[in-house]
Amino acid sequence: MPKPTLQLIASTTLARNKLASYIKSPRQLAGGFYVIIDRMDILIAGLYGLVLGSFINVVVLRLDRKEGIITGRSECPHCGHILAWYDLVPLVSFFMLGGKCRYCQQAISWQYPLVEVGTGCLAALFVYQYPGGYTWQQLISLVGMMGFWALFLFDLKYFILPDKIIFPLITLSVVGMIFFNSGMLINALLTGLLLAGSFDILYVASGGRWMGFGDVKLALLIGLFFGYPVAVIVTVSAVWIAALFGLALIILGKATPKTALPFGSFMAVTAISAILFYNDLIFFRIFFP
Ligand SMILES: [Zn+2]
Repeated sequence: MPKPTLQLIASTTLARNKLASYIKSPRQLAGGFYVIIDRMDILIAGLYGLVLGSFINVVVLRLDRKEGIITGRSECPHCGHILAWYDLVPLVSFFMLGGKCRYCQQAISWQYPLVEVGTGCLAALFVYQYPGGYTWQQLISLVGMMGFWALFLFDLKYFILPDKIIFPLITLSVVGMIFFNSGMLINALLTGLLLAGSFDILYVASGGRWMGFGDVKLALLIGLFFGYPVAVIVTVSAVWIAALFGLALIILGKATPKTALPFGSFMAVTAISAILFYNDLIFFRIFFP
């Protein structure tokens, strides 16, 4: 059986061994200090993540408004005032301004700081899990993770999974497999088609009520990106988590069986979890070597 893509990514035990070796080294006196200096990359990745998060906020999450990605100046959605650079410093501006527009005093959506912090945490976590010396496959994993994150936000906010995000990721997955993991190519193609086919049957059978066609395309992407078995774990666990989540909402009286759930968001979360934690999940590695 071919090895899944993620197993080729450096194991996280590497990071732990490295930390342990510092504690035992002659640097032990200043051990803690050196550990912090040594993993400054985590902090820097987090800062880059904050900036990427503000980019996702103002650019990606308004793909639906058909505004130009490069030319679109950021403006206040309430008063339309063009925002200055000092209004757009990730996280800092929001709290300096007390969560209000500098010009019209209307509240700024919590979406902005939350997306920035979320993106920063994902970037930091990725660098923590996969320390240093990146391979092409790891860079593809990083881009893929941020893509799934954007899809999560989009489905959560608008109940759509834009082709503008899914199609480039599908291309990236296939090109990545061809150049850097060709042994997985057939596996990934078959897994993608199988998952998309199964989801398409559910889509047609339910008349689009259980899931949208965007979910079918996302299942194809997940199959191509991970291959078997990771892609199957990702989709099946998303189905279970979404079902339990929906059931919990119904029991709490916050939803009816007809309430729509952003199923794509659930798949995006399990995909991100697989990228970050697959190597840590001993259970899955025993049953899906
Ligand atoms: Zn304003």
